[in-house]
Amino acid sequence: MGGHSVVALAGGVGGAKLAEGLAAHLGDRLSVVVNTGDDCERHGLLVMPDHDTVLYNLAGLEQAGLGWGVEGDTYAAMNQLAAYGEEAWFRLGDRDLALHVARTARLRAGGRLTDVCLGLQRALGLAARILPMSDVPVRTQVRTADGWLEFQEYFVHQRQTPDVLELRFDGALDASPTPEVAAAFGEASSIVLCPSNPLVSIGPILAVPGMRSLLAAARARGVPVVAVSPIIGGHALKGPADRMLAALGHESSALGVARLYADLVDVFVLDAVDADEALVVETLGMRTLVTNTIMTDDASRARLAGEVLTALR
Ligand code: GDP
Ligand code: CA
Repeated sequence: MGGHSVVALAGGVGGAKLAEGLAAHLGDRLSVVVNTGDDCERHGLLVMPDHDTVLYNLAGLEQAGLGWGVEGDTYAAMNQLAAYGEEAWFRLGDRDLALHVARTARLRAGGRLTDVCLGLQRALGLAARILPMSDVPVRTQVRTADGWLEFQEYFVHQRQTPDVLELRFDGALDASPTPEVAAAFGEASSIVLCPSNPLVSIGPILAVPGMRSLLAAARARGVPVVAVSPIIGGHALKGPADRMLAALGHESSALGVARLYADLVDVFVLDAVDADEALVVETLGMRTLVTNTIMTDDASRARLAGEVLTALR
């Protein structure tokens, strides 16, 4: 990595889109720190939804339209697992399963999570690096009227329908940024908070003890931090971010996200439809960039990433 490297913090779908745009400009000068709070065990295998979504997007393998899973995947193994009476609500395609098998085997053989992930990324030809936020397991849990649920029970099985009363990041207090994450922040010339769910994608990353200090130390060196709003016109494009913000006492708007990031961020990027919120965001102490932030294809991902990088110069 040279002097112009970028660290991006990302969850799954929204994060992966901007990460791919950034990778188109930066190649091996990009390190993506991914949320591992969504990780879970299925069929004895470690599944890492956000890491894998970013991986498939950077490798050009993602399912068009959905943004996760492998394009053209088949479900023979899943259907056979169901025939044996295994739970099948978390649908894992055959090619996707191969990733979880390889990863779990290497971990069981004694591999460290970050090394195992980097090895798998190299096998798919990635130039950028996707770094788990921590090698220690952190698990996001969601309290609903039924009590505490594992994140994927809420997100996939219950389709994000229950109201979220509270969040916690189990294990976070025992976690720490990996040496690779610390080095990436240490060498970064800019930092990007991708348009990911601020509460359950960026939130767990920032909840790792030491992560906020790495960010603050970089800022103290003059490294600018930019965030792109995942909320457009008051709504999430996908997923529960809008309802979750409102349910947990925040405003479901770009401004509501800006308030959460006010003490972390120098430049806040809002969608053109939210242009009227820019002045208030600036009163929070951030510069703003107003542009079209909806990423529909490779070209719009690269265009937004280019604008974000230019705004930091
Ligand atoms: P998850 O882990 O798969 O839920 O993905 P993320 O947390 O990374 O992303 C979810 C957020 O991405 C949602 O709040 C969406 O509104 C946001 N999002 C998805 N696509 C886009 C896009 O093209 N532009 C912007 N600005 N946000 C997006
Ligand atoms: Ca996720």
